[in-house]
Amino acid sequence: MKKILVSACLLGQTVRYDAKHLAVENTLLHQWIQQQRIIGFCPEVASGLPVPRTPAEISAGDGHQVLAGRASVIDRDGRNVTQYFIDGANMALALCQQHRIELAILAQRSPSCGDSHIYNGAFNRTLIEGAGVTAALLQQHGIRVFNQSALQQASVYLAGLEK
Ligand code: SF4
Repeated sequence: MKKILVSACLLGQTVRYDAKHLAVENTLLHQWIQQQRIIGFCPEVASGLPVPRTPAEISAGDGHQVLAGRASVIDRDGRNVTQYFIDGANMALALCQQHRIELAILAQRSPSCGDSHIYNGAFNRTLIEGAGVTAALLQQHGIRVFNQSALQQASVYLAGLEK
């Protein structure tokens, strides 16, 4: 049975920067939990960032550019926290490789977990196209990343993996 990596905050763990969660109430997710497919993970906490923590955004790029050394993750106080985000992404990838995970459901818009849109680095709530650092690294290794608004699509993808 295929395992699925899921952002810990989507499972109700209070690991977000504001010490809150983003728990998803969804039949599919409950079914996957019952089937013991789900592995929860928070890359930011795993790499050593505290809860709560100062919010951070990717400055001048997205996760792919961070991984290429062409962009940084800066918190709202101006502290460069890029290495935490890269370390967390590498830990997430290692976990996926350990469990042969090919599918992840990650929290949208996060500078780590966002799959397709992130904030623009100006802390003005403006979204741009792009992936967070963990999502980008998983994508680069062939792991399909969905967000919590696309669980039905994730289910179809999972069915295809298990044919
Ligand atoms: S890094 Fe990901 S799992 Fe952790 S709180 Fe942010 S969105 Fe959730």
